[in-house]
Amino acid sequence: MGYKTAFAEVMREYERDRDRARADLENKRQEVYKNFPRILTIENQLKSISIKLARSILINGGDIKALDRLRRESEALMAEKKQILADSRFGVDFLDAAYRCPVCRDTGFVGSTRCMCLKQRLIQKYYDCSNLSGVLEQENFSTFDLRCYSVNTTDSEEMTPRARMKGILKVCREFVDRFGNGDNLLFYGKPGLGKTFMCNCLAKEILDKGATVLYSTAPRLFKAVEAFRFNRQEAGDPETIEALTEVDLLIIDDLGAEISTLVTASELFNILNARLLENRSIIISTNLSPADFQNQYSERIVSRFSGHFKMLKFIGDDIRIKKKYGEKRAAGLGR
Ligand SMILES: [Zn+2]
Repeated sequence: MGYKTAFAEVMREYERDRDRARADLENKRQEVYKNFPRILTIENQLKSISIKLARSILINGGDIKALDRLRRESEALMAEKKQILADSRFGVDFLDAAYRCPVCRDTGFVGSTRCMCLKQRLIQKYYDCSNLSGVLEQENFSTFDLRCYSVNTTDSEEMTPRARMKGILKVCREFVDRFGNGDNLLFYGKPGLGKTFMCNCLAKEILDKGATVLYSTAPRLFKAVEAFRFNRQEAGDPETIEALTEVDLLIIDDLGAEISTLVTASELFNILNARLLENRSIIISTNLSPADFQNQYSERIVSRFSGHFKMLKFIGDDIRIKKKYGEKRAAGLGR
């Protein structure tokens, strides 16, 4: 499901909620009228008073004495109704509409701004749209573990992997805090060092802010772009293509693993370019080194993009292996 469909669906849910609340209220009214016909009389009187009030304001610009009398009358009637309900088995608030959200009365909006309940519901839906629902419970900042990264330096690096990851973590946290400024990140380094994991951490944080996220591996992304290019009618999901430019955060995992034609590559980079111009964030992860990157994509593309990305190099041993085989040993060593 795409984000637009998701939004429309949520709006329909709100409509259903409102209808339900209204129908529910109507049933309660009928029940109350049956038991207390006086309440029906009171409500009819209240209606006619409000008509009189409106008329009086229109005709005499509001004769103050008359207005006062009408207001007092209506206040007395409302108090009487309240008292009847309070003394009954129904209770004083029985005829208050039972909205799921009393703040926005199940409209999703307070004035023109989105109600908290709508934001919350969209977050749930957006999880489903991100291609990540499920994964994010396991892979997020709270489960991220710096201890998977070694405290020993290798010959080629000055920093220890753990110190490097600490730095990367900080940059990533800042990315989340500053989100909306069009920052872009590029994770590179050997496979198995936690790049995808970090993508997921960021996706969760951004989704939890109520923003839209689309995650895709590069092979899947190129396939979608290709299908769309060559067979527009049957391309599985044009909304996905639209989402590529429109989501607040696009995550492309494993760039370089795709098999692509020059045309598809340039099409995708046009999309990325559009995002840069609109200040919409992109996170890319790749196993390619910067030198390989130059080889795989045209120089024009590389030079266009490199200036816009914060390049973060992941170093260390394969943490997938470490997680699988080394956990007990690492714990035993107190590290
Ligand atoms: Zn609400």
